Amino acid sequence: MDDLKLYAASLEQLKRQLEIVAAFSDSINMRMGINKCATLEVKRGKMQDTGQQTTLLNNVTIPTLTDKQTYRYLGVQQALEIKTSEMKDLYREILHSRLNLLLKSKLSSKSLFNAINIWAIPSITFSFGILTWSTTELREIDRNIRTTLTKFGIHHPHSSKIRLYLSRRQGGRGLLNLEDTHGKHIENLRTYFYKNNSPLFQAIRMADDNLSALKLSSRDYHPTQRTDEELKHEWRSMALHGRYPGHLEKEEINKTESLRYLRAGYLFPETEGRLMAIQDQVMPTRMYLRHIAKQDIPSDRCRKCSQAPESIQHITSSCTIMAPRDYLDRHNAMAKIYHQQMALKLGLLQHEIEQHLYCPQTLLQNERYRLYWDATMLTDRGVAHNRPDITLFDKQRESCFIIDVTIPADDNVSRAYAEKLNKYGDLAFQLKELYNLKSMSIIPLIITVNGLVEHHLIENTERLKLDLNIISQAQKQVILYTTRIVRKFLQGP
Ligand SMILES: [Zn+2]
Repeated sequence: MDDLKLYAASLEQLKRQLEIVAAFSDSINMRMGINKCATLEVKRGKMQDTGQQTTLLNNVTIPTLTDKQTYRYLGVQQALEIKTSEMKDLYREILHSRLNLLLKSKLSSKSLFNAINIWAIPSITFSFGILTWSTTELREIDRNIRTTLTKFGIHHPHSSKIRLYLSRRQGGRGLLNLEDTHGKHIENLRTYFYKNNSPLFQAIRMADDNLSALKLSSRDYHPTQRTDEELKHEWRSMALHGRYPGHLEKEEINKTESLRYLRAGYLFPETEGRLMAIQDQVMPTRMYLRHIAKQDIPSDRCRKCSQAPESIQHITSSCTIMAPRDYLDRHNAMAKIYHQQMALKLGLLQHEIEQHLYCPQTLLQNERYRLYWDATMLTDRGVAHNRPDITLFDKQRESCFIIDVTIPADDNVSRAYAEKLNKYGDLAFQLKELYNLKSMSIIPLIITVNGLVEHHLIENTERLKLDLNIISQAQKQVILYTTRIVRKFLQGP
């Protein structure tokens, strides 16, 4: 700290103190920045506008602070008192101008939220403990930040608020929340003043009867500060918003892998916001409009197929009109990632091609391997399901992998795995007999429409000797396709 503030009982005493500072500064070769220095005389609680300057022995002259002037001490404008309301307005203004600048910056979602946390939010949080903020004021600023995010299409107005503030590790977006941050700052500062028992600190504690923002004379002042655990609990307990976190905690789901897209934070903030609105079940589907928003619409049946209620689950995974094209594209995007990486690994391809340009050949082969894409496997006796996404024969090991990709609704994930094993059981048995194979495996690869990673996917990816990073690539394609499917569906006729 190089800002020094001296208090004295009289002008005479003040001058003596200033002489000491001046002499000390001279001896260590430090200069006083006179243009930033001022004296202020107070009589019976009133500032005296004497205009009298103080000249020190070393010929340095310090002016007086006049009535209308303030000075900046540790970044806060003050005169006799801290100019609380002016300072608060100023900090709010800085926060909002920085927030708006960042929102125009085209950062990826995680970088954007990080930047808000480390550049915009601190314009207010650094005053915590110095200025007194009420919970109402803090909540209002939090609300304004959310409204601004909504204006930029980054946060759906009906999406979970709590989720915005939950860490990305736990499935949230990791935005700092002023109310909780305030609680933490105050608690830390109070702890500092309470753990020291010197007479000075005791006196400070006694004297601070609602004088400072820390309210030190009151032992039981504890402003709210929710932990990640509490936020998570609150999120899960919500009827609609709580479904996705409920699925995340299921045994069949690998939570860490499932939240990879959030930890990496590579999506555009708008896309991430849209995905969250889908996961939070607040997209304007007919089911939502009629039963949640209570709008008077004639029917809640699907606008495309009329075969089922138009829920977000229906749109993302079970509409017969969307299946042949949109769901298939999503499915193929994931299957192609696996196909290309296997082909590279097995020496069947030399160069990697960008994912969206990759068109797998029906058969790739070399001395040892035969790798089929979406090909009908012929057997002696006919079987009902004989066209898996990928089939790999290994001549040397006399083995075969039947690999099939599924992208089910979040609810159907456990059923989907068993169904795949069952579906290709017959084919596996027949191929094993026909080619006299030593081993035969059915490998379902499953990520749900919302990007939840079915827990076998990790070991299955390892069994294929592939780098585990491709799970993240596959997840990225799935969630991008899902957001596109929903947008197309809801914008369509
Ligand atoms: Zn439909």
